[in-house]
Amino acid sequence: MANNDPKAKKPRQIDVLDPQDDSVIDQVPRHTAQEMHEAVGRAAHATERATRMPVHERMRVLRDAADYVENHRQDFVETIAREGVKTINEARSEVARAIWTLRLSADETRRIVGNTIAFDQRPGSENRFGYSRRIPVGVIGAITPFNDPLNLVCHKVGPAIAGGNTVIVKPHSATPLSALKLAEAFEYAGVEEGILQVITGDGSDAGDALVTDERVRMISFTGGRKTGTKIIQRGGLKKYGMELGSNSPTIVMDDADLEQAIPMIVGGAIAAAGQNCLHVQRLLLHESIYERARDMFAEAMSRIRYGDKRSEDTDMGPLIDRAAADRVEQGIREALDAGARCLTGGERDGNFLAPTVLENVPDTAEVAVEEVFGPVTCVSPFRDEDEAIARANAVDYGLQAGIFTSNVDTAFRIADALECGGVMINDSSDYRLDAMPFGGVKGSGIGREGVGYVLNEMTEPKVYCFNIRFPRGWT
Ligand code: NAP
Repeated sequence: MANNDPKAKKPRQIDVLDPQDDSVIDQVPRHTAQEMHEAVGRAAHATERATRMPVHERMRVLRDAADYVENHRQDFVETIAREGVKTINEARSEVARAIWTLRLSADETRRIVGNTIAFDQRPGSENRFGYSRRIPVGVIGAITPFNDPLNLVCHKVGPAIAGGNTVIVKPHSATPLSALKLAEAFEYAGVEEGILQVITGDGSDAGDALVTDERVRMISFTGGRKTGTKIIQRGGLKKYGMELGSNSPTIVMDDADLEQAIPMIVGGAIAAAGQNCLHVQRLLLHESIYERARDMFAEAMSRIRYGDKRSEDTDMGPLIDRAAADRVEQGIREALDAGARCLTGGERDGNFLAPTVLENVPDTAEVAVEEVFGPVTCVSPFRDEDEAIARANAVDYGLQAGIFTSNVDTAFRIADALECGGVMINDSSDYRLDAMPFGGVKGSGIGREGVGYVLNEMTEPKVYCFNIRFPRGWT
């Protein structure tokens, strides 16, 4: 019988399951809080070596790690496709992006610069001359989610090392293998001991130890809003990067090219089976095209092939585990009970859920206001630009949004009024370039990732001010 006592001693190993059939594919250590504190000790000991690593050496390490991933591409692809929710094709694209993120980190290393400061702007400071340079933060704790188990780790490790920091990764317990493989890449690249560590373990134990350890100067977190809030409460005085969830809108105006728009929206609605922070959760359609666009969308969603992640023909994989599938199914049921209509989908088979399109969803339903994190999209009509903007902004999230229109003035006006970190025009909300600033407003987070931008967060300006003694008579 299963032991449901939360205080019961857990096994020393974590089983890593393939979410499509719950088979055990591997085991990783369940490191304890004590072991995490020891890891922080090793990282703190290595900070001086990390700081003193010259820029050319940081660049070499990052490039060599990227080369390793490229040379072992197939291994990485299979690891993501087995432990995670992505299809083999989605896994290929994540590995390509991860290689790029590491190379981008190498490139950005040489652009970490300070600035000269005009001290003579204040009367009495004419003799002062100085500048700032960016120094590392120190030990960074990187806590990562399951949905991009490699590239989102690269988004933290790459810039952390570029900035001269040491970094400890606490990967999601469902998908630790990709992060452990990445550690092999850095070992191959010759990164010195203690500069990068991947420590597996429970979020509430090893993760909490990382957050609360005072030697950790920054927590770079990507995950759910509740977890992020708890981390800030527990961690106290340190820096935080918070990349949280969303409930992204995509707006389709009456002048949009639907033949172009619908396939892109479908792509954004089913990527990683909707377990994607940029997932198209709310599709707002102008009332004059509502029925046509809705039917085209629902029909395209009904043709999505879901199932075996390793098949080249599969478009969409499973939910990460049974609890996630239960949660999403419950959200659909609650919306239907409150009067929503299911246009396609709604079926469940183990951890798989069919791509689901709902209409007439009450504004108060969980799937309308919270992040669904599954393959569910709510469609609704709007009268005019103002209503589209008001509806898009009516949630306490704001990561990204999409707008389809052929009128540049409309695009500009709506983009300007949307409360979010990025607006994709003639694209769904689900577009990201790893080099762009990426992050949200409201409940979607604090700060920005994107290699060059997070480097600003992972370093701090230090001012050097010279009070120059000029000889008498010097002008
Ligand atoms: P999650 O449940 O919040 O877990 C994220 C990480 O936090 C895991 O490594 C987890 O460890 C750890 N954790 C849990 N409790 C902790 C605690 N008390 N102290 C320290 N660490 C703790 O999130 P998820 O389900 O993996 O990811 C889904 C969420 O991530 C969604 O909301 C999604 O939108 C968001 N996301 C945001 C972005 C972005 O860039 N904005 C990108 C991707 C995903 P365990 O696994 O051991 O519990």
